[in-house]
Order: sequence, then structure tokens, then C-alpha cells
Amino acid sequence: MNFTKFPRRKYLQGSTPIEFMPSLTKALGNNVNLYIKRDDLLPGAAGGNKTRKLEFCIADAIEKGADSIITCGAVQSNHARLTASWSAKEGLDCHLILEERVEGSYKEEASGNNFLFELLDVKTIGVVRGGSDMMAEMEKKSVELAANGKTPYIIPGGASNSIGAMGYAACAEETMVQLNEMYLDIDHIIVPSGSAGTHAGMVVGMTGVNGNIPISGVNVSRPKDVQEEIVYNLGIETAEKLGVKGGIAREGIVCFDQYVGPGYSLPTDSMTEAVKLFAKNEAILLDPVYSGKAAAGLIDLVQKGHFSKGSNVLFLHTGGSPALYAYMDTFRQA
Ligand SMILES: *Cc1c(COP(=O)(O)O)cnc(C)c1O
Repeated sequence: MNFTKFPRRKYLQGSTPIEFMPSLTKALGNNVNLYIKRDDLLPGAAGGNKTRKLEFCIADAIEKGADSIITCGAVQSNHARLTASWSAKEGLDCHLILEERVEGSYKEEASGNNFLFELLDVKTIGVVRGGSDMMAEMEKKSVELAANGKTPYIIPGGASNSIGAMGYAACAEETMVQLNEMYLDIDHIIVPSGSAGTHAGMVVGMTGVNGNIPISGVNVSRPKDVQEEIVYNLGIETAEKLGVKGGIAREGIVCFDQYVGPGYSLPTDSMTEAVKLFAKNEAILLDPVYSGKAAAGLIDLVQKGHFSKGSNVLFLHTGGSPALYAYMDTFRQA
């Protein structure tokens, strides 16, 4: 794939590590060998997957002459934190619109990512009700900033448009290069599937490099059919942008929705269990909203015998650990 056709900032410092997880593999019965790709270690304050997407989105903003970035997310959004982070680094103003998906969940004095928004010098935070039209809210902000002589640029939630998703197409390519170097034959990749750019980008990239490793997404909010459609549509658009011949196959988009629990960002027992297992066996910190639920899916699939005995499974760790500090009671009670 050729990424040089698009503006891109260089935020990565080489490839993120791929590691074997010997203790977790053993704890789960040695039937499946578990590997992890450490995108939680990406640069940008406290790391995580949005950095790959922002290499393309912020580069596009800068190319268009923007001096202000507007984006949106949930009240503990990692994406908002990383957008604020790279905006600070680039000398751009950052404005956030936060969606209170769980009523009463926004607290100005909250810990976790919310606290970091402040440190990262976010200029304004607007909080709107769950279910609001986030694009319309961001456009309102954009009109206001433009009226004040600014040049705003809107990055959609999760940076999950075809510009941002290219970051994960690049990640799939990076992963294949590493696996070939390590001579590691991975049978399956598991990724969290949220605003869909990560999942869609990975499938596009894997198709683009002909890696032939199946990728499954673990949903964090939506039902299977709805999420698969979102991933597929974004995948088609991203594949087209990158000129991936033949596009992507619908049957290559697979989501599991049985680990969402009562809803987005709401804790589940299997999530707390997964977070504790990763911490205690591998000293790897997951998060309560995305990687924790995705890992709960991984663990259940391993235990159910979904992967054949002796297979090698790679888990994409997308980061998010700052959100742990906003959920301390959940983990202490469990
Ligand atoms: C945003 C996010 C995801 C989900 O990625 P999408 O591209 O939105 O599907 C997963 N993990 C963490 C920690 C995130 O912040």
C-alpha cells in the first residue's frame, strides 16, 4: 500500500512491540498461544490507538491551514485525550464536545482522561446529552470559531473516517512485516470494535498486503449486524482511497457482541476479570471501556474452544489505561 499520496505527520517511533504472553497463555490452559501487539505503548500522552489515526487526520488539518481542532467523544474519551495531546504538540487549539452517553456521568472534577484534558490545555469543553447529533454540535462550534477569525478543522469521533482508518491499514502492514521477521505464524487477530476505524483499517491493510490472517472485532456498544455494517462501509471507503484492488470482502468483517454487557462504558464482570488477569499475569494494563471488554471476548473465545488447539492468536491492545482511574470503585468492589 502506498501512503505517500496522503499528508501524514510522523508520530510513531518505529513499530510497536509484538510480545508473547506466556503467563496468560498458561493461566488459560495452554490450548492457545496468546500474543499481544502493544499499541497501548504508542506515543502521545498515555498512548493508545488514536495516535495512528491522528498521524493522517492532523496532517490533513495542517495541510488545510487549520489552527484549531474540534473533536468529540464520550466523557472519558481516549480519542479526545490523544487529539488534545497531538494538538498541544502541534501548537493547535483543541476544542472538545463530550457526549454524556450515561446520564449524569460528566463531572468536571473527574479523574482519568477527563483530568488530562485540562493538563493538555483543551481550550473549551462542551457537554451534550447522549444521542445528540455530534457532527451538528461540532459544526456549531466550528461556525463560532470561524466567526472569531479562527480556522477550525473537525475530526469525527474516534478519528474514524477513511483518513484516520488509514492509520490502521498501516498498522496491519507493520504487523505483517514484524510477523515475517519473527517468523511467527498468527492464525487469528482480535481487535476492539468501537467507532470502527481500527477494525476497518486492519481489515483493509491485511487485504492490501495479502496477509490472509482473519481479524475479528469485539464490540463495545452496538449489536453485531449494526457494527459489521459500519465497519464494512468504512472499510470499503478506506480500501478505495488506498487503491486496494478488489476492495474488502463482506465475510471478512466479523464482530462479537456478547461482551458489551448493559451498554457502552458500563462495567461487566468479564471485563473486570480480564483487566485483573492481564495485570496480574502480564503486568499489562487494559481499560474498562474497550480493551478490557475486547480481552473478555478473547478469553471467553479461548475458553470456549473457538480457536483450534495450538493456534496462535494476536490481541491488539489499543490502550486506554487512564480510564482505569475513573473506575477504581468497580475494581475494588469486584
Ligand atoms: C477508541 C478506542 C478503541 C476503539 O477503536 P475504534 O477505532 O474507535 O473502533 C479501542 N480501544 C481504546 C482504548 C480506544 O480509545
